[in-house]
Amino acid sequence: MQNLKQTQAILEQYKVLPKKSLGQNFLISERIIKKVIEINNLTKTDHILEIGPGIGALTKPLLENAKQVDAYEIDKRMITILQDQLASFSNLNLFQADILEVNLGYLYSEISTLKIIANLPYYITSKIVEKLICELPDCNTFCLMMQKEAADRILLRENHAKYGVTAILLALFGQVVYKFDVPANCFYPRPKVKSRVLLIKRNPNSMFSQYFHKNSENQIQDFKQFLEISFSMRRKTLLNNWKKSEYSAQTSVLEQVLNKLEIDQKTRPEQISPEEFWKIYLNMADYKG
Ligand code: SAM
Repeated sequence: MQNLKQTQAILEQYKVLPKKSLGQNFLISERIIKKVIEINNLTKTDHILEIGPGIGALTKPLLENAKQVDAYEIDKRMITILQDQLASFSNLNLFQADILEVNLGYLYSEISTLKIIANLPYYITSKIVEKLICELPDCNTFCLMMQKEAADRILLRENHAKYGVTAILLALFGQVVYKFDVPANCFYPRPKVKSRVLLIKRNPNSMFSQYFHKNSENQIQDFKQFLEISFSMRRKTLLNNWKKSEYSAQTSVLEQVLNKLEIDQKTRPEQISPEEFWKIYLNMADYKG
């Protein structure tokens, strides 16, 4: 495990300066690393997908406690370090890739022992959460460390200015368990804000889970697109957003659905709860046949 001195020594040895643009804040607290490992109750049958391993602060203990770790890192410099530092582990699969470009559904949807564990690059937190839900809707837990502001935002409910697509998908997907906060001094370089560890647990009994379990991944993307159109201009009404979109032909269907569900035609997207969005979507799908 890494502490500040070891982290600085490794970065110096490889002449690497952390890139802010890639959200490179490396964990340097052995206590926090241990806690992350503990809350995941790892066993030697677990197959871990790690996003953004950096110089391996979490990767090494994951390798020691799980069957296999697949780690996706965008920065080639980190790959060089990881290949050297973790050369003795035969259960590591390291990929140099932008996680947003990886087809997770294709690669991992059949693996029942899959666990996602990541200290996320802050600049794409929401995108990654959306991607995990849409591409791996059958995965039971995602353990994600993220900046506190991002954690607050993805947990928002309706009637809040920053409520949006990620929060809706997450609310429908399952339960978010707050685990612990991580002070800024547990990272190098030190970020301006503290971080938070969340355990996102799928609710296998929800209508949402059951629906997407039976249907294909494309249909979740369809639901996500439905939300994106609905939120294209958050100050406009839901109907107006649809009218202005390339799917304007479906506005009359939406009107009928809003009537049926007794939702005011002037409602703005940010006023609609996740559960209501889900009902609107299902009803529209019914009308379309
Ligand atoms: N896991 C390490 C740790 O806890 O010390 C590093 C975490 S750091 C917050 C985020 C890592 O994600 C960095 O190593 C960064 O290079 C990597 N990263 C940033 N954007 C990425 C992307 N699009 N795909 C994969 N990795 C990315």
